[in-house]
Amino acid sequence: MHDYWKEVGIVQGREFVYADEYIRFEGPGGRKIVFYGDVDRLEKELLDFSPRDKEPILEFINGIRFALNFDQPSVDTPFLKKIGNTARIMYTLLIHGKQFKKWGKTTPQEFTARLSDPMLKDAINELWLPDFSMLFMLFTFAYLHKKNAGYPIGGSLPMSRALEARYTELGGVINYNKKVEKILTEGNMACGIKLSDATEFRASRVVSAADGYSTIYKMLDDKYADAKIHEPYEKWPRFPSLIFAGFGVNRTFNDEPVTVSGFSYQLEKPVRIADETIVRLPVHIYNQDKSLAPDGKTVLTIMLASDYDYWKKLSENKDAYNRKKEEIGKQLIELLGQRFPGISSQIEMMNIATPMTFERYTGNWNGSFEGWLITPLNANIMMKPMSQTLPGLSDFYMCGQWVEPGGGLPTGVMSGRRLLKKICKEDGRKFRTTFIAGE
Ligand SMILES: Cc1cc2nc3c(=O)[nH]c(=O)nc-3n(C[C@H](O)[C@H](O)[C@H](O)COP(=O)(O)OP(=O)(O)OC[C@H]3O[C@@H](n4cnc5c(N)ncnc54)[C@H](O)[C@@H]3O)c2cc1C
Repeated sequence: MHDYWKEVGIVQGREFVYADEYIRFEGPGGRKIVFYGDVDRLEKELLDFSPRDKEPILEFINGIRFALNFDQPSVDTPFLKKIGNTARIMYTLLIHGKQFKKWGKTTPQEFTARLSDPMLKDAINELWLPDFSMLFMLFTFAYLHKKNAGYPIGGSLPMSRALEARYTELGGVINYNKKVEKILTEGNMACGIKLSDATEFRASRVVSAADGYSTIYKMLDDKYADAKIHEPYEKWPRFPSLIFAGFGVNRTFNDEPVTVSGFSYQLEKPVRIADETIVRLPVHIYNQDKSLAPDGKTVLTIMLASDYDYWKKLSENKDAYNRKKEEIGKQLIELLGQRFPGISSQIEMMNIATPMTFERYTGNWNGSFEGWLITPLNANIMMKPMSQTLPGLSDFYMCGQWVEPGGGLPTGVMSGRRLLKKICKEDGRKFRTTFIAGE
């Protein structure tokens, strides 16, 4: 990934933190499971935690080692080495193809049914959403093991700014605070866009990197979709929408480990938060990033899945919606107090985002935070990617998380790259990329 990030100007000059721990799961009586990024450490931790689950644990660990084989050759890898790499991947697929298929079709729920330790079962189920394909989990651990998935100091905003600078430096123009309402077509050719303020832009090609549902069903009035294009929108599960709470706390957490995704702990009793009852609280302490808070203070976040329809209905009454947000803030502070006594008096900043917030900012269908889940229904996309065009409409393309199951930022960059390769091919041009200096 490093090369792809370099092409779009995001990594140069940025500091990354590679945490040893992916996530930590705290149970009753001081029991805990640490999901290490290093596969050998993870193997030892899981076997020490539940020796009676040796067989499925080793299968899981071997699955991660199997995923380690799928290394992308870097952009400037010499041709012969690239061929060698492809041959190695083909060989691995030939020998282990069945295993690859098996993991693709297994969900965490199915896998954990084989575990006997209930805490290990819960922990693996909490790592990912229950419908998610295990294959994706194996690849995530493989990336962590290779230190191919770090945290950028400063978080997401400086990354966005770097991308913006790179795009404008290459001649791109960004129009902020403009909403596309329609994609203009003439004789089944895309020829421009119309904004909500009625302005029109003409273009020889149109690429939608926006929400897939709005693009296909609203901007194009569902005129260019067949059963295959409709299928995901009718059948595939999506990442849910979220309650995302951010807190600024007047204290440090030096005794807590630096992790990729935080930790979760068991609550004293189940609690109803909006439409869901929770028994554990996932917390992410950003103690690795001093740039997010003044000296001696820390940012922490809590991310909970929440139902879009519940919030949509609630938002019809602005007062009720705001009251619920406030109530949730107070509830979460109280629950944080179970793990960090006295924290309520140290909280200086609080921000609660709901599925309505995500919808308002991103336009994503039902506020989904990452598009399509990879499930057994679509796990074959690793071999056969989704189409980036629509039937019967030329000069129109899509990229981003709605044509790349699994979503996420790396996929976003790779999706744009995949599309530009296709466009270069259409134009008979050689696809080439450039870097700006720096590592
Ligand atoms: C809280 C949270 C945490 C996450 N954590 C991670 C993580 O750790 N790692 C990771 O890889 N991914 C993470 N994700 C997911 C990741 O952010 C998304 O998968 C990714 O941003 C998708 O990129 P995209 O370009 O496809 O779509 P988006 O980022 O949704 O971009 C689409 C853009 O199109 C614009 N747009 C939409 N409709 C219109 C319109 N009609 N007119 C004009 N513009 C429009 C939107 O404003 C937006 O700027 C997280 C997401 C959330 C919400």
